[in-house]
Amino acid sequence: MNKDDLNTIQHFAEDSTKYYGAITPPIMQTSLFKFESLKDFWNGLENEQNVHAYTRGNNPTCEILEKKIAKLECGERAKCFGSGQGALAAIFLSLVSAGEEILIVNNVYGPTTQLLKELERFNVKLKIAYVEKAEDIEAHIQDNTRIIYYESPSTHLMKVLDVRKIVALAKPRNILTVTDNTWSTPLYHKPLELGVDISMHSLTKYISGHSDVVGGIVISSEEIMKEIFRFGHQFLGAVLAPFDAWLALRGLRTLEARLTYQQVTTKKVIDYLKTNKKVKMVNHPLCLEGSELKIFEEIYSGYTSLLSFELVTEEYSEIEKFVDELKIFSKGVSWGGFESLIFPSYNGKNESDLEMYKKPKGLVRLYLGLESAEELIEDLDNAFNK
Ligand SMILES: *Cc1c(COP(=O)(O)O)cnc(C)c1O
Repeated sequence: MNKDDLNTIQHFAEDSTKYYGAITPPIMQTSLFKFESLKDFWNGLENEQNVHAYTRGNNPTCEILEKKIAKLECGERAKCFGSGQGALAAIFLSLVSAGEEILIVNNVYGPTTQLLKELERFNVKLKIAYVEKAEDIEAHIQDNTRIIYYESPSTHLMKVLDVRKIVALAKPRNILTVTDNTWSTPLYHKPLELGVDISMHSLTKYISGHSDVVGGIVISSEEIMKEIFRFGHQFLGAVLAPFDAWLALRGLRTLEARLTYQQVTTKKVIDYLKTNKKVKMVNHPLCLEGSELKIFEEIYSGYTSLLSFELVTEEYSEIEKFVDELKIFSKGVSWGGFESLIFPSYNGKNESDLEMYKKPKGLVRLYLGLESAEELIEDLDNAFNK
């Protein structure tokens, strides 16, 4: 399924005859669009989702990106946002009401959990279910559960769930399912095809791919996107700039080439980590076994280069020394760019947070960029041996 993906969308939704045959579409750096007649103007204002009237509605450069990603994800429609967090805020605030509950499954992106906790002020309830298997979610569902939100593999601990079972629990109860598909990219996992209602990505990560854009995108059915556009996009206003959409389009063209290279690196680095005595455990779908591996192989067609591992040591000073010895891995947030990054979970004083999110103190997140596997392994090995 994934091999032809990028070929089929390389020029999809573009029309080079409109821009002098240019092989790449232009950046439509404009805030507004004018109309030929007053009648057209009124019609445009009534249908801002489909007409170009204002860039806080529909901009042609953003629209090209939206159409390509919607096609890749097998969704009816997509909408770009100014960040992944902006996209998530738009989803939740468009679709929940006071008195309803959002059920998070396992660990999801931290600031999103924090946002949902803030919604308690508006009487939107939040529950986090820590489960080993998708079917265990059933015990956490209530009459007022409106949305089940999960990230698979889960943030940091990389737990893989059988999404088909989540859908089977949600659909008969009219609960919406929302997934953060950023790790898999639109190439390796198609949640909407499995019955999930809404998929989203932080464009900041692999899609842009060069650590120079912050953006997000939501993909769903026409019906749901209409509401997310009306409220989440138009009223909350976290829109993507045309230039950032253009950069994300540029990143998208090389997504598959980058990921194919990074997969080779990932396999080699994981093989190295698994043999290292200072590493207790590696978390990545390549380390799955048995029924979990079977689920992964059935519903994902590839893996990417973000993983975590658990150091044997839980001493903060030792974790600090190891991280500071690394020369190639930079200490930094985010991921998905060209450069390798490291982010330990423990900062020497956040024991209670770690306990709450079920993370061990020795947990370290590793993002493998476009450097060679050999260089990265040498860097890790040097730091481990110091
Ligand atoms: C980064 C990230 C987000 C948030 O995206 P931003 O573009 O940083 O706002 C959401 N989910 C995941 C999995 C992420 O890695």
